[in-house]
Amino acid sequence: MSTNLIKNAIKHTILVTKHKWLVFKFCCKIGMPFRGLMHDMSKFSFEEFSESIKYYKGKVSPITGCKKDKGYSKAWLHHKGRNKHHDSYWVDFNTPQIAPVIPYKYVAEMLCDKISASITYNGKQWNKLSLFNYWEIEKTNIIINPKTEHFLSAIIEEVKDKGIDEVFNKKHFKEMYKKYCIDDTTEYKYIFKGEWQEVKK
Ligand SMILES: [Zn+2]
Repeated sequence: MSTNLIKNAIKHTILVTKHKWLVFKFCCKIGMPFRGLMHDMSKFSFEEFSESIKYYKGKVSPITGCKKDKGYSKAWLHHKGRNKHHDSYWVDFNTPQIAPVIPYKYVAEMLCDKISASITYNGKQWNKLSLFNYWEIEKTNIIINPKTEHFLSAIIEEVKDKGIDEVFNKKHFKEMYKKYCIDDTTEYKYIFKGEWQEVKK
């Protein structure tokens, strides 16, 4: 192994550990320490770790770097296939709903993940608006059941207005999930267009 790869391996391990620690703290706030402890463990698998140290950049995700370089990322495909806190884990075009409502514990973990990543990537520039601004764009680029989206958006908007501490607690999360994902009886069907466009060079 080259010295560069060893250095990246150390830096990447520190970054992942910091992220996991932050996720653990938020997961504790909402009463699920075990999920916080197990969060993103697959990042230490060979499939994910080897690619991440090859494309380690520090401020940007190595997965983004690999996707740009190769057109796909095996680490990401491995990660999203095993980690239920990612919206893409739940997407299956051979199911009636395409994207079902994500069960409570995984969306709750997703929120802890999102807020942690937002804090880590923004560093000193992070403020109550950071995640809200990011989510406003992200939510238009993913396939997610509208009910799950409404729950996520509601919590993220509250963080923008009141801050993390006011919003991140078990009782409130459960109430909000009930309101948006259980009591709402609207049914949604995803319309798949499947269009391709030739890219002019
Ligand atoms: Zn993850």
